[in-house]
Amino acid sequence: MSNYLTTPAIESCLAWLNGNYPSITQLIRLPELSVEGRVTRALRIRSAGGGDRNGVLLVGGTHARELIPPDMLASFALRLCWAYTNGTGLTFGGKAWSSTDIRLAVDGLDIFIVPLINPDGRTHVQTPAPTGYRWWRKNRSFNADGSRGTDLNRNYDFLWQWIIGQTSASPSSDVYHGSAPFSEPETRNVRWLLDTYRNITCFVDLHSYSELILYPWGDDNSQTTDTSQTFQNAAWDGLRGVGGSGYAEYIPAGDRTKFADRGVKVRNAIAAVRGRAYTVEPSFDLYGTSGGSSDYTYSRYFLRRGQRKIWGYVFETNSTGPNNDWQYGFQPPYGDALQVIDEVQSGLVQFLLTCVCVVREVAIRRLTVEQIDELRLFRDEELSKRRRGQRWVALLDAYGDEVLVLLASNKRLWRDAEAIVADAADVVLRRGEREPPRFERDLAARIGRIVTELEKRATPELRRALADVRRDVKTLVGKTAREAIR
Ligand SMILES: [Zn+2]
Repeated sequence: MSNYLTTPAIESCLAWLNGNYPSITQLIRLPELSVEGRVTRALRIRSAGGGDRNGVLLVGGTHARELIPPDMLASFALRLCWAYTNGTGLTFGGKAWSSTDIRLAVDGLDIFIVPLINPDGRTHVQTPAPTGYRWWRKNRSFNADGSRGTDLNRNYDFLWQWIIGQTSASPSSDVYHGSAPFSEPETRNVRWLLDTYRNITCFVDLHSYSELILYPWGDDNSQTTDTSQTFQNAAWDGLRGVGGSGYAEYIPAGDRTKFADRGVKVRNAIAAVRGRAYTVEPSFDLYGTSGGSSDYTYSRYFLRRGQRKIWGYVFETNSTGPNNDWQYGFQPPYGDALQVIDEVQSGLVQFLLTCVCVVREVAIRRLTVEQIDELRLFRDEELSKRRRGQRWVALLDAYGDEVLVLLASNKRLWRDAEAIVADAADVVLRRGEREPPRFERDLAARIGRIVTELEKRATPELRRALADVRRDVKTLVGKTAREAIR
């Protein structure tokens, strides 16, 4: 494990990046010191411009012995900054991301990277025995019974007290959930980022090992029909995560599709590098947990007014290798780790692109931030509640990143799209007026023309979706926004 970055080296990387790329990075000192008094920092990457972009939070090093993710995130930050600044793409094995892809991510997002959220744990792992312990998992807090450490990925405030599945109330356990939800400074630092940067809508907690892309829920199986079976309903307390209780955690069908589809995109971007096939599944399919990071981040939407939905994932990078060895899973030789680092970074570029709001990017030069927020509200409060509207929202979720890249690769297309979005937005934004505007034939024709252009360059899946759009648009002519979604 000699080549892995030490805790101070990761700190230095962040400072170096900020020193070398001051115009697109910012160092954020997280408010809480670790138990042993270490400072944790986030690096924020974003080009100059509005603060209304979607935010993405990437966290590594939660589990101390899982050495790959912090190195991966530090190098990811470097590669992003380098490629953006030089106007180049990034190539990982068999997968090439273009300079346009990188530009869209850095211009369209607020990217928060915390390579090492648990600096005490990593330091302990990298300290020779008998003082240190190479396979330490938790942080280094002091427990009442004299043992040390809380499993940070059981310490979040999501069904915390219910000790579900691979979770323990015993302080000496490797999956000890702590003395209270958010009892640990490290998890409070993550919460602080989410509370402070309210534009964060995407989250990945990076771990090793198993080659998985996990999404909520982790407390039990999921279902999309019975809205009374939720973590908020006390009638089911104690019955979650237990086989045969009849319980399954509710998730809106559209959310489940979006979580899974996005996961598949990331998986494909990983596989393109050197053929490793990650599995995309709800966390519970691995094992049940309470107090996990991705469940917590996603659950906030259901608990807080005005909280935007956070698409929270856990990635498990690396395999157990040719000899099915768990030690290899946590700490492979560095040469092998570098290959994992490449493939996961490719997955993260894809993940970033799915987090960019295509409407915001195309509208930002013609509409105000407030108007874009109103469009977002229209999507969530009106469009998403109608069957036809849901189809359009799903379409944008599924193909937004591909459309964005196609538009951004051609200046004329981009200008046309800007004008179309501005005119369509006008119909939507003024829908409450006494004489609301209608979709004009000319606007429909212009949309038809841009669809034709996109079809020439689209993947077969997108081409099929565009055919639907073409049909739909014809039916809009002469209607107001409210008539159109009826
Ligand atoms: Zn882990």
